[in-house]
Amino acid sequence: MPLYPLFADLRDRHVLVVGGGDVAVRKTAMLLKAGARVTVGAPTLVPELREWLQLERIAWRAGTYQPEWIDGAWLVIAATRSRPLNARIAVDGHARQRLVNVVDDASLSSFQIPAVIDRSPLLVAISSGGVAPLLARRLRNRIESLLDPALGSLLQLAQRYRSRIRARYNDLVARQRFYDWLHDGPVHASLRAAHPVQAEQQLLAALARRKEAQISGTVVLVGAGPGDPGLLTLRALRALSEADVILHDALISAPILDLARRDAQRIAVGKRGGALHTPQATIHALLLEHARAGKRVVRLKGGDPFVFGRGGEELAFLREHGIAYEVVPGITAALACAAYSGIPLTHRDHAQSVRLVTAHCQQSFNTLDWSDLARERQTLAIYMGVSQLDELTLQLLAHGRAADTPFALIENGSLPQQRTLAGTLGGLPTLAARHAISAPALLILGEVAAQANAAHWYGELLGEPARRVAAPRALADAA
Ligand code: SAH
Repeated sequence: MPLYPLFADLRDRHVLVVGGGDVAVRKTAMLLKAGARVTVGAPTLVPELREWLQLERIAWRAGTYQPEWIDGAWLVIAATRSRPLNARIAVDGHARQRLVNVVDDASLSSFQIPAVIDRSPLLVAISSGGVAPLLARRLRNRIESLLDPALGSLLQLAQRYRSRIRARYNDLVARQRFYDWLHDGPVHASLRAAHPVQAEQQLLAALARRKEAQISGTVVLVGAGPGDPGLLTLRALRALSEADVILHDALISAPILDLARRDAQRIAVGKRGGALHTPQATIHALLLEHARAGKRVVRLKGGDPFVFGRGGEELAFLREHGIAYEVVPGITAALACAAYSGIPLTHRDHAQSVRLVTAHCQQSFNTLDWSDLARERQTLAIYMGVSQLDELTLQLLAHGRAADTPFALIENGSLPQQRTLAGTLGGLPTLAARHAISAPALLILGEVAAQANAAHWYGELLGEPARRVAAPRALADAA
């Protein structure tokens, strides 16, 4: 191990930063956060440093570098633009047995500043020994996204009650179990849900209980988005990586499920295009069973759980049975399909409103207000079974929507096999049949859909009028 990891307490300790530019600003900012007393040595200061000087947050040694500046400093950071000068500062510092960091030069440094994930009091520091700073930064981003922001508050809470926890659980194993409960159970969930007072009450109640706190399971209802794993939220990613059990819709793509822990139990529920499906009651029973067993359950749904996702029913059920839950929104198919085919759902000139409509079955057809849906200057995003296209087109035309109203029908939106079919309402069923569009597909109907012809950027664009790909000249000539 070529480096010795070290977390330094710099509160009220002197640190010298040589250099008055932007790099010095970055280094100084981090030192100030750690409570260090920073002296910046440089002939001139950039505005930010000057401001800190005025606010007396830093001291300034004006002028060219002098070795005496090092006296009194615990650490030295050389952040000038001149490599020879940085090297001299390192030599001088080391002669005085100070630890010196030369910015971006591991070979001259006796200490390095790691990439940090800050959930104070928890700090995660990453070093590649100066060999691969970019890799260290990427790792930092990965870990940053995995540690939820509430973790810091949880640790602060635990810190405040540390002695009481120790007194209540003097047995090490019991204490470890309590800390597991603290991390995995309702206290952390309350903090994530922005209920700090409730979190503290739950902690106090657990400490007052005679029996050991049981780990009670939680359910996180998570929107998985339309398929592209890049469209998951960080919260969804964290929930997936912490889940013990995942109840997922059949449509959830494999790359998304791969983001869960290897040993997490994955259970496919829900239906796929009218084929065999798990009844809602069975899904409820599974949620209850695993939550009661103390598991962290993720109910993973396509798109957003509250848009045609029966998320409301599942929450009502959980509430009825006293199971704690969280809801993580997802990118719904309408937003994803619009974005991935270059269609703005609203447009100053063409559409002042968007409607999310479901037209899955005869029942949903009968309850829709067709004359309202057939109005101009609004965008319809229709979640649908593709088999309903004939009837849908008939209804809209019959209620006055013009046959030349543009549409875009997006199949497998955001997935590599995405196809966008563009055309006008009159020709919709014929075109869709000709190109054999199948589920899942979303229909965007309205003036804005014409934008796909010019602005489409992802996957294949089909239909009329479609953007024609010019044949290479040589080939065209040969033909
Ligand atoms: N909760 C989901 C919708 C569930 S209803 C959401 O918010 O997106 C299922 C319908 O959503 C499908 O019939 C289809 O119309 C639409 N859909 C879901 N994923 C899709 C995708 N990747 N591309 C196109 N349409 C999709």
